[in-house]
Amino acid sequence: MTTALPSHTTPAVRALLAGPLLDELSHGLDGPYHLLLPERFDANATAFRNVFDETGVDGRVYYAKKANKAAVYAERAAVAGLGVDVASHGELREALAAGVRGEDLVVTGPAKADGLLRVAVLQGALIAVDALDELDRLIPLADELGRTARVLLRRLPPEQPHSRFGLNDGELEAALRRCAVEGPVDVEGFSFHLSGYDVRQRTDLAAELVTLCTRARALGLRADRISVGGGFAVDYVAAEDWRRFEESRRPEHFHAEKSFGGFYPYHSPVAGADTLRTILAATPTGQVATLAELLRAAGVALLVEPGRALLDQAGFTVFRVQGVKERDGYAILTVDGSSLSLSEQWFDSEFLPDPVLVPATARPVADAGPYPACVGAATCLESDMLTWRKIPFPVRPAVGDLLVYLNTAGYQMDSNESPFHDLPLPPKVVVELSGSRFRWRLDRHPR
Ligand SMILES: *Cc1c(COP(=O)(O)O)cnc(C)c1O
Repeated sequence: MTTALPSHTTPAVRALLAGPLLDELSHGLDGPYHLLLPERFDANATAFRNVFDETGVDGRVYYAKKANKAAVYAERAAVAGLGVDVASHGELREALAAGVRGEDLVVTGPAKADGLLRVAVLQGALIAVDALDELDRLIPLADELGRTARVLLRRLPPEQPHSRFGLNDGELEAALRRCAVEGPVDVEGFSFHLSGYDVRQRTDLAAELVTLCTRARALGLRADRISVGGGFAVDYVAAEDWRRFEESRRPEHFHAEKSFGGFYPYHSPVAGADTLRTILAATPTGQVATLAELLRAAGVALLVEPGRALLDQAGFTVFRVQGVKERDGYAILTVDGSSLSLSEQWFDSEFLPDPVLVPATARPVADAGPYPACVGAATCLESDMLTWRKIPFPVRPAVGDLLVYLNTAGYQMDSNESPFHDLPLPPKVVVELSGSRFRWRLDRHPR
């Protein structure tokens, strides 16, 4: 039998699961939908800011917009005075429309098109320069516009030498020399973004960037801030459940004995803003002071660009069970949507936290489970499965029940969405507590 991997929840999530609104919305919208909880986004942002307050480090939070296309999070970022990390013209437009000021944007991403660079310069956005040829295009462009481009130079992580992002040692030197002599570029500092969640790598590289700031200042450049990018883990499931899952995992636990290359670390002992606290309290390799002390002493501000971590528990995804087919010892559920609305499925992997079954009608007590079932999409593709794992449901799933995938706001909702089969794209519904009741509205973003 497969082990359960129940998702962490919050009081708001539990209240919604127990109340009538989810069923009402499923009926009204006539299909699957994503539910967004912006109050939780605000709380996550506050947690990051509190770390800066506690440690006396001058810090700034930029919400990495690619983690979710909804307008509401960028709108909340604008109101809270957060910055936003954008990596395309569309994201930049959306952030401005949400009310984020140009100077509060950081534009990341490789080989940014001239059109994007131009708007970024005109808006006074910070531009993370990823390559020398990008700098070659940026300098005359800023010249032509009669403006100064605000830039960070993005560092290729020495410990991830195969990364396609950032400048290596030689390129960084060349970029610094060019910016020191050639006009309209203000080097405000340096940046990196690491894949994975290693705290030591982040601490060490941040310390190296502080040293780079000192060197750049000697060349007459401003260099008073560094960005450590995103990559603050989210803790989805409890340690004990994750350990049991990893230890007992076998192909028979998955429909068609499907096996996977690997899984996201759904349990993380340190996550979100606590990761920032850990990074700041750590002593970088070869140093005697903590990173917080190094930053304060050098007068360098720390920028962070969390995406996933700001969206922790800030949304979930609701499907309706449309069919239940019995197989040998388990069931295949079919829901009213596709795995394109659960993006992890498209990376040779699986979104593992157990979806929650919300029965449409009360079941007899004698019907108690566990009832193992996998979850398929309402499409004609053999591989279009929302969950290959045979989830041990506590009651027998039935047609008409809701199936709720929790904590999906970070990257799961829309990065791979498609109207394949002419299935409608799940709308996004913003839900907020008003007094003691939940109120809802559709998100402003058209998709
Ligand atoms: C994707 C990305 C982020 C956000 O990463 P998370 O893991 O969601 O925190 C931040 N900065 C850059 C440059 C990115 O590409």
